[in-house]
Amino acid sequence: MFKHENSEKLRQRSENIILGGVNSPSRSYKAVGGGAPVVMDRAEGAYFYDVDGNKYIDYLSAYGPIITGHAHPHIHEAIVHQSARGILYGTTTPLEIEFAEKIQHAMPNLERIRFVNSGTEAVMTTIRVARAYTNRNKIIKFEGCYHGHSDLVLVAAGSGPSQLGTPDSAGVPQAVASDVITVPFNNLDDLEEAFDHFKDEIAGVLVEPIVGNFGIVEPHEGFLEGVNKIAHENGALVIYDEVITAFRFMYGGAQDLLNVKPDLTALGKIIGGGTPIGAYGGKKEIMESVAPLGPAYQAGTMAGNPLSMAAGIACLEVLEQDGVYEEIDKKGKMLVDGINALIKKYDIKANINRKVGAFSIYFSEDKVTEYKGAENTDGESFATFFNGLIKRGVMIAPSKYEAWFITTAHTYEDIEETLKIVEDVFKNDF
Ligand code: PMP
Repeated sequence: MFKHENSEKLRQRSENIILGGVNSPSRSYKAVGGGAPVVMDRAEGAYFYDVDGNKYIDYLSAYGPIITGHAHPHIHEAIVHQSARGILYGTTTPLEIEFAEKIQHAMPNLERIRFVNSGTEAVMTTIRVARAYTNRNKIIKFEGCYHGHSDLVLVAAGSGPSQLGTPDSAGVPQAVASDVITVPFNNLDDLEEAFDHFKDEIAGVLVEPIVGNFGIVEPHEGFLEGVNKIAHENGALVIYDEVITAFRFMYGGAQDLLNVKPDLTALGKIIGGGTPIGAYGGKKEIMESVAPLGPAYQAGTMAGNPLSMAAGIACLEVLEQDGVYEEIDKKGKMLVDGINALIKKYDIKANINRKVGAFSIYFSEDKVTEYKGAENTDGESFATFFNGLIKRGVMIAPSKYEAWFITTAHTYEDIEETLKIVEDVFKNDF
């Protein structure tokens, strides 16, 4: 079993200087018993090496962006090459044009694109564009979907589809929350009811086309088509948050995989090849609401910086090779089939949702199709599972709501090793 003595020592030092000891709250181990977060020293391929010298098979994948594994040689080379040519210009570069064209080639619905620096910024801006274009204020989103930490999306559901939201974070004004209605995912009746109630006040419906933030949850057949129909009949726009889903399941977005097109799309994570990035795009006519062509303002000193553009292009060059997603899918299936067999063998109350290389294990006998289902899964069993895995060399996110992400770097031997570790945890810790 791994020892984490140096991580424990660093926890104390970190808590004395970095607020809460973490730069993002989801990195804390609060939800899994409050141990010291494992401090990583180095990452390469599918592996992490911590400050105590332990090696892990990594399925956290930095919460999604690292789909080619850590320090991928092609991305590394692109970053080093660009670094020698300057990493931030504040001017137009051929790189940003090339990269935007490359994204558009894969996601043709994005007729115009802008780069920003995070998924949060991307989503925040799509909401502003929808409001500017429709001249309306209210937004409908879905329960349990995370869209970054801007005010408008940190809003909790009211008691029903005709109720306005309440702030989900201190510091978000009630006035902002009053512009947000939250309805359950996969439920068109509630969406319709929200539109019936607020009619021509709704600027847009914001949705993850395949949910990645309460595990991996696919839309029911016809759900996304229904979202489009209801929104468009009521003069509202549809915004897809593809920060997790774009380039996750295929070379393109979930919108290309499912063949349902939104009006606006927010991107992030994978497209930066591991560097900070966000992007948004959509129909030309709608995007032309943004400055310098239109009245909606959005800007950024770091936006489209050459380093992220070079890393992003290199990442997509890896992903566009033949067979990449088929291989990720095969490994995803092998791992999930293996874990499912172990769930059965050790009579664990759990089930798995998987889409290609992304999956989530729910400690519950019920299938999860909307947020309440994920909320009702057993957090204690998840904590036991998580702590069992990190003691034995498998790293996943310390939250029952996060997914595992398989990368091009994982090998079949890694999958076999992971299954041995999972079996050991089920056998001895449950
Ligand atoms: N949207 C979705 C669907 C996300 O999963 C996330 C981050 N997990 C964000 C937006 C925010 O992205 P960032 O953390 O880059 O601001």
